[in-house]
Amino acid sequence: MKRKISRRVESGHPWIFANEVDKVEGEALGGEIVNVFFHDKKFVGQGYVNPKSQILVRLLTRDREEAIDENFFYNRLKEAWSYRQRIGYTENCRLIFGEADYLPALIIDKFNDYFVLQTLALGIDRWKPAIVSALERIFQPKGIYERNDVPVRELEGLPQQKGFLSAPFDTNIVINENGLKMHVDIENGQKTGYFLDQHDNRRAIQHIVKGADVLGAFCYTGSFETHAGFYGAKSVLGLDISENAVAQSRRNATLNGLDNICKYEAVNAFDALKQWSKDGRQYDVVMLDPPAFTKSRETIQKAITGYKEINLRGMKLVKKGGFLVTSSCTNLVQPELFLETINMAAKDARRRLRQVTFQAQASDHPIIEGWENTNYLKFLIVQVL
Ligand code: SAH
Repeated sequence: MKRKISRRVESGHPWIFANEVDKVEGEALGGEIVNVFFHDKKFVGQGYVNPKSQILVRLLTRDREEAIDENFFYNRLKEAWSYRQRIGYTENCRLIFGEADYLPALIIDKFNDYFVLQTLALGIDRWKPAIVSALERIFQPKGIYERNDVPVRELEGLPQQKGFLSAPFDTNIVINENGLKMHVDIENGQKTGYFLDQHDNRRAIQHIVKGADVLGAFCYTGSFETHAGFYGAKSVLGLDISENAVAQSRRNATLNGLDNICKYEAVNAFDALKQWSKDGRQYDVVMLDPPAFTKSRETIQKAITGYKEINLRGMKLVKKGGFLVTSSCTNLVQPELFLETINMAAKDARRRLRQVTFQAQASDHPIIEGWENTNYLKFLIVQVL
């Protein structure tokens, strides 16, 4: 590596960018395991290399002696599972959260007996057979599915693909979450099929939705909305631009006996929030869970404008003394900046906010100090005065 290293590398973050490397000895073939050294020849770690990617090396271990083989992946998965069991997970969890589990670019979600995985870099993709065999040894799963239909793979020279990594199975499954049942569409749902990261946050709405008229924008499969119904809301209206998401939300309402309470509309939430705040509609609780408005540093400002806009509209729709439940899922907007944006919106809406809770993602997606990309989800509940 070059003499001067970044704070990120210093904090042990496993990515080594090509422009941080001083020289390459020998031939670095895509996907192979290489050793990385500091400028003074001290050992940094072993990782997989991809000369086609801006992230030249992603470190797998700091231990020079550790063999990277099938057993390595078995041990890592086992460790990750015992960690999650220790912090209370039994049925569903993100089993592997990439970097935070020292397995860069690997995502594995466990939905009871089913597993969905993503291998998002060349060097981890190669180990897919070892990872699948480790899952089989540890869990004897009913099914394993690959959701590698994601554009980031192309930055690594990998094709987008999805399909079974076990014998085929019915990919429409039902999971239990916080005492509710939820459909998960492993094959066609977004990302791995279900957003487990809001698992604890969904429970956080329990008290404020009792007897309330609730509006939920960006509902996807209606996870927050179904929870609101389950926790005793008087009425729930969920919005999503995708017809398919709205259909899934309705199925989840039916599955939980909440057809009379939870209603859904397929609309553009930006338009609806704008129009309805003009019309003077009022709700006891408004919930917002938009997609990441940015994936790159260049467009952060645009994202902030988007967050400000929907939160401003959302606040206007909240009755005095009601609640706004608002999330942001991009690590490019860090928690302080998110709070700042919400406060700017409050100022424009001429409303005062009282914070009920400010949380991150569930603890099966661990945050590592100094590794910004592990700290990505913001979840805020405020009373709107
Ligand atoms: N609350 C959900 C996750 C929401 S993901 C959960 O907990 O599972 C974001 C959702 O926003 C996606 O379903 C996407 O279809 C929807 N979306 C994106 N742009 C939108 C828009 N302009 N209006 C309404 N919905 C939109």
